[in-house]
Amino acid sequence: MSIPEKIRQCHPALTALRRDIHAHPELAFEERRTAELVARRLEDLGVEVHRGLGGTGVVGVLKAGRSLRAIGLRADMDALPIQERNDFAHVSQHAGCMHACGHDGHTAMLLGAAEVLSAHPDFDGTAYFIFQPAEEGEGGADAMVDDGLFDRFPMASIFGMHNWPGLPAGQFAVHDGPVMASADRFDIEIRGQGAHGAMPHLGTDSIIAGAALVQALQTVVSRTLDPLDSAVVSVTQFHAGEAYNVIPDRAKLCGTVRAFSAAVQDRIEATITRIGDGVAASHGVSVEVDYRRGYPPTINTADEAAICAAVAGSLPGASVLTDLPPSMGAEDFAFYLRHKPGCYVWIGNGPGEGGCTLHNPHYDFNDTIIPFGVAYWVELVRRLLPKA
Ligand SMILES: [Zn+2]
Ligand SMILES: [Zn+2]
Repeated sequence: MSIPEKIRQCHPALTALRRDIHAHPELAFEERRTAELVARRLEDLGVEVHRGLGGTGVVGVLKAGRSLRAIGLRADMDALPIQERNDFAHVSQHAGCMHACGHDGHTAMLLGAAEVLSAHPDFDGTAYFIFQPAEEGEGGADAMVDDGLFDRFPMASIFGMHNWPGLPAGQFAVHDGPVMASADRFDIEIRGQGAHGAMPHLGTDSIIAGAALVQALQTVVSRTLDPLDSAVVSVTQFHAGEAYNVIPDRAKLCGTVRAFSAAVQDRIEATITRIGDGVAASHGVSVEVDYRRGYPPTINTADEAAICAAVAGSLPGASVLTDLPPSMGAEDFAFYLRHKPGCYVWIGNGPGEGGCTLHNPHYDFNDTIIPFGVAYWVELVRRLLPKA
C-alpha cells in the first residue's frame, strides 16, 4: 500500500477518534483521558512512549535508519471552558467544556502521522511526536520545555500546525517570520480617597482617574509606536464602586497587550507605567501597574518556513499561501521557538459559517482536512530526514 493509500485508509478511523476526543474534552493540565488515549494508540503502533511531560504531556519516539538527525512535530490536546451549542452526535459530554479550537483535530492528525510513518518508515532519523497540554492560556509548551523536552529528546527543529476557519479546506498558510502575536496582561490598581457622592471635593475620585487612564492608554499604540509596528492595547475590565452615593476609593483596570516583538513589548510596558504615573500626579491618586509577560510572539524561522511552504505546496490537492498577514492572537508554540528553529503553519478548516470560528460555541473541527494534515506531517518528516 502506498503512503497516499494508507492515509486514505486511516481517514475513517481518525475521524472516529477525533470525534471521540471532541465528545470528551478536558481543560488545561487535566488532559488525562486524552493523554492516555494518545499514549495507548502510540504503543499499539509500536512507537516508544514517554508519559507525564509537563504534567499530562506525551512524547512518542519513532526512529528509522541510523541517522542522529531528529525533528519534533507538535499537537496540543486541551479544550476550552465553553458550553458547546452544537447538536451533532459527538457533542461534548462535559458541561461547560468543549473543543472549540480544534485541538481534537490536531491530536488526531498527529496520531495519523505516527500511524502512517510507523507503517512506512521511509526516512532516516528520529521523529518525535509531541502531544502537549494546556495551550489555551496556561503555557503547556513552557511546562514541557521546563520538564526537559529538548534535553531528553534532542531535536534540530520543531513544527506546529493549527486549523484556520475561513481558509479553504486543503489550503495552507505559511508565514516567513511573525505568525502570532505575544499576549501580555496588566492589572492597574488606583487608590484615591473615598467620599460622599454629593461631596466630591472631600475625596479623590478613583473612577475619574480610571476613566482618564483608559483614555490615555489609547495613545500608547497611536502615539508612541512606529505606525508600521502592529500592536493592541485593550482595557477589558474596569471594576469600581458598589453604591449610588459613594465615590469609591479604589478602581481596578485590567487588559491585554499584543505585539510582534520584544522591543515593542518593552516600549508598551514602559509607556503604560509612565502614563500611570502621570495620571496619578494629575488626579492626586496612587496608581500601581502590574505588567506581566505571557506568551512571546510566535516567529517562524526563515529556512524552516521555506521548507514547510514547499512541503505544503507539494501535497496533492493542497495549495499554500505565503502572503497572509499574521494574527494578533497568541500561541504557546512560541515557547519552543525560543529554543529551536521551527515553523507553525495554518491549515484551512473551510468556511467559518454558522459560528464555526475558533472559540465559538458552534465551532467544530472539519474532518475532511485530516488527510491534508496527516500528509503534511508525513512529507515534512520525509523531507527533513531524507534517506541517503
Ligand atoms: Zn484557542
Ligand atoms: Zn488553538
